[in-house]
Amino acid sequence: MNQASYDVAVLGGGLVGSMAALMLQRRGLSCVILESRPWGKEQKVVVGEAITEGSSVFLRHEIGLTDWLKQNAYRKFGFDFLVRPRNADPPKTMDDCHELLLSLTPLEKNQSALPKLIPTFHVERTTMNRHVAEMAKAAGVTFLDGASVEQVELDEPHVVHYAHAGAPAELRAKWVIDCSGRRTVLGRQLGITHPVKSLDTAAVWNRFEGVNDDPAFWRTFHGVDRRRHTIHFCGQGFWFWWIHQRDNLTSVGVSYDKEQHQPNVKTDDHGFWEMVAKFPPIADALRGARALEPYQYYAHLPYQSEHWLSAKRYALVGDAAWFTDALYSIGIETSCRQLAMLAPLVTKDARGEGVCEQSVMRLNEEFAYTQKAVLELNRFKYKEGWHRPHVVMQTALYELGEIAELYHMQCPTRWTQSTLQMHYRMQWGTRERMENLERFQRESLRDGERDLEDGTLLKKALLPGKRVYGVTWPLWKLPHARPYFFILTRAWGFAERFAQRHRLFPDGLRWMATESGWPMLARTRKPRKSDGDVRPQSGAAG
Ligand SMILES: Cc1cc2nc3c(=O)[nH]c(=O)nc-3n(C[C@H](O)[C@H](O)[C@H](O)COP(=O)(O)OP(=O)(O)OC[C@H]3O[C@@H](n4cnc5c(N)ncnc54)[C@H](O)[C@@H]3O)c2cc1C
Repeated sequence: MNQASYDVAVLGGGLVGSMAALMLQRRGLSCVILESRPWGKEQKVVVGEAITEGSSVFLRHEIGLTDWLKQNAYRKFGFDFLVRPRNADPPKTMDDCHELLLSLTPLEKNQSALPKLIPTFHVERTTMNRHVAEMAKAAGVTFLDGASVEQVELDEPHVVHYAHAGAPAELRAKWVIDCSGRRTVLGRQLGITHPVKSLDTAAVWNRFEGVNDDPAFWRTFHGVDRRRHTIHFCGQGFWFWWIHQRDNLTSVGVSYDKEQHQPNVKTDDHGFWEMVAKFPPIADALRGARALEPYQYYAHLPYQSEHWLSAKRYALVGDAAWFTDALYSIGIETSCRQLAMLAPLVTKDARGEGVCEQSVMRLNEEFAYTQKAVLELNRFKYKEGWHRPHVVMQTALYELGEIAELYHMQCPTRWTQSTLQMHYRMQWGTRERMENLERFQRESLRDGERDLEDGTLLKKALLPGKRVYGVTWPLWKLPHARPYFFILTRAWGFAERFAQRHRLFPDGLRWMATESGWPMLARTRKPRKSDGDVRPQSGAAG
């Protein structure tokens, strides 16, 4: 029987568990990972392939994945939202949909700007998870594979009971960090993790090879390739993600509100194709494609925990703590934020300074607000937002404010405890931020029916071209000024909303994307069929 003793026992060696152990081992603590899969057996559930700015800063500055991501991941440049028009026949092509593109692709060709962007990626998760697990091993973490945790006796030290090659075993650890994903080993044992009842959503997905790869099929505003973004295909009560990773590997999945959609989940594809039929351009893109694995299906997505951190020296991190929805790809990012706050706390304790109860309370409070806000945001999207293009646009612009915050840490020298404490706390982790979000959602509904009023397709691109770079040049040159570029960009989007609401000018965003010619910014007139269309068929955005 293994009677070993460690500073930290991490339950689960997925991405989050490996990162947790790696961070703490590097800080001088002795760590063990208990992972139920034998070494070399990949995770069955492959999901979580979009790496946001918030995940990127952590993966590169904290974990050290800059080169690995550069070599192995697909660089993406933003979001694309395609919304199924209401009161109309199903769209035949993507051009028949409302579309909002938030993209930094024009800056890719600008050698002064490109290195100053936080790179974001689509990544093949099994490979990345394995790589980080190997890094943890190489750093000295004890990796017990084939070790299935059964119970944790919370004590000083804790005793972790697990089965190893069918035989019972145990080890001791001062801290236990549960990273067991949706199995939520500790959360279940303690009875603190519960399914969310107020939102009943499911997801089904697969990875495909041989999808339509004709560049013309994917071309949108100013010739931009949609596949360089995380694509969201949305309709009432559902959204699809389309994550291009490389030639012959595309992740496609759908999340839907079960009150509004009841596809046949008794078949092996768990209703995937029934949902695809609601968005014909996706069926078109998948014609002739081959699914690479059995379809994966979660019958109920959201769950939450009463707390994630305890002064009794345990923590629940990543999917072991909570999950709401894949929207905005915040799964990994929130885990990273948790780890950034947890590591100093555990390290101080290991130095003999004890656990600061006030910090624990504060971090739990931030977590509770975040859970609540993210749930509200998702309820809003499924019930009110996903089918209303103006609402989708505004909530996407809202997200730019969150991204701006991350630019405080774009440079690795800014990856310090004090900067993290200021800018890398839990998203929406205060009452004020949560209330702002709620207010924003209510406000955006004022524009909710506008697409029905004027019957036009909303087509918007936030594509900062050369001219925008020129005008904002000081923000790219001055140290630490980059966040203000994103704040300005968002302000531009909001000004656009305001102006269009009052019919002031048809399309201010066109100016942002074009290379030459000065547009008329303010004129009052009735909307026309072409309002908002920034899609000249030729000429790149810059
Ligand atoms: C449909 C969907 C789409 C998503 N898309 C994104 C996205 O685009 N971007 C993003 O950032 N996030 C996304 N997420 C969330 C993201 O996938 C997760 O946040 C992340 O992968 C969680 O990693 P983890 O290490 O916490 O859990 P997991 O990857 O589930 O790892 C848990 C590990 O614990 C092990 N384990 C379980 N039980 C035991 C036990 N008893 N003993 C020992 N080991 C055990 C498992 O074998 C596994 O290796 C998505 C989630 C879903 C459901």
